[in-house]
Amino acid sequence: TDPASYICAAIRSVPDWPKPGVTFRDITPVLQNPRSFRVLIDLFVYRYIGQRLDLVAGVDARGFILGSVLAYELNLGFVPVRKKGKLPFRTVAEEYTLEYGNAAVEMHTDAVRPGQRVLLIDDLIATGGTMLAAAKLLQRLGANVVEAAAIIELPELGGAQAVKATGLPLYTVCRFN
Ligand code: 5GP
Repeated sequence: TDPASYICAAIRSVPDWPKPGVTFRDITPVLQNPRSFRVLIDLFVYRYIGQRLDLVAGVDARGFILGSVLAYELNLGFVPVRKKGKLPFRTVAEEYTLEYGNAAVEMHTDAVRPGQRVLLIDDLIATGGTMLAAAKLLQRLGANVVEAAAIIELPELGGAQAVKATGLPLYTVCRFN
């Protein structure tokens, strides 16, 4: 099997979590197994090595796991896109809509310098709300968001389409319906 198929087969689908009718795509088995963990990171390294990136920005919390390892492998810095209220220094926030109510992502105002080339990464894109808010926040700080990346996209929820519609390229390894 090819590397991407190997990764997609290692993702665990948990029915009725966090609520009835929802199937949660669980990446912990991919990280737990040393071979799939390496193949996953290497897929991203293969795509981004030599792309003259400056930073990897990872989305709270699974984007931290992927983003920090990837940044280290690419010899780049890592910056966190956090849920609201976690960062100690001066922050900027971007709100977005959830199924029920609102949420916000936050970054330090000095996390990126204008013009820096940033790769944005999270584990999964569903409605795209989180990824779009994170990209907007980075752009407000002057970043050049070169691409958004995730392990998984859920095409039926339209998030991947929505991200691409803003002109931001999106790379994902697996598609689940
Ligand atoms: P969105 O904002 O695109 O609707 O939701 C994506 C965010 O919710 C990501 O930060 C992701 O970690 C989380 N998320 C939503 N559903 C799932 C899921 O089934 N599996 C995983 N691993 N994360 C999910």
